[in-house]
Amino acid sequence: MAATLFEKICSGEIPADIVYQDDLCVCFRDISPQAPEHLLLVPRKPIPRLSEAGKEDAALLGHMMLAVGRIARTLHLDEGGFRLVINNGHDAGEAVPHLHMHLLAGRKLEWPPG
Ligand code: 5GP
Repeated sequence: MAATLFEKICSGEIPADIVYQDDLCVCFRDISPQAPEHLLLVPRKPIPRLSEAGKEDAALLGHMMLAVGRIARTLHLDEGGFRLVINNGHDAGEAVPHLHMHLLAGRKLEWPPG
């Protein structure tokens, strides 16, 4: 199977503005930011979407959630607040079939989202 766009970013084949990485996940700035700060956190493992994650991914998903908190604190995004979004599937607008968490911050975010 061809590598996904986000696998290519994880491997360095496609450049990105990386703000954090470890052995399990990579966080980089979205190319088309929807807020003053718009980060994407992706697992190195190419799980297509959250609904396809399995029991074997429990530790990875927990690791990513804790990474979000750490990244937010490091970049001071927790001060004003931030939103974490996962688009799962067509109706949610998932464009890249590789699980990713959007971390949005730096402006007042509307609720409910569109
Ligand atoms: P989705 O719509 O699938 O939830 O989110 C995919 C996100 O990936 C979009 O916000 C889009 O702007 C971002 N994106 C698409 N291509 C690239 C790229 O080449 N580099 C980076 N950094 N972000 C990308």
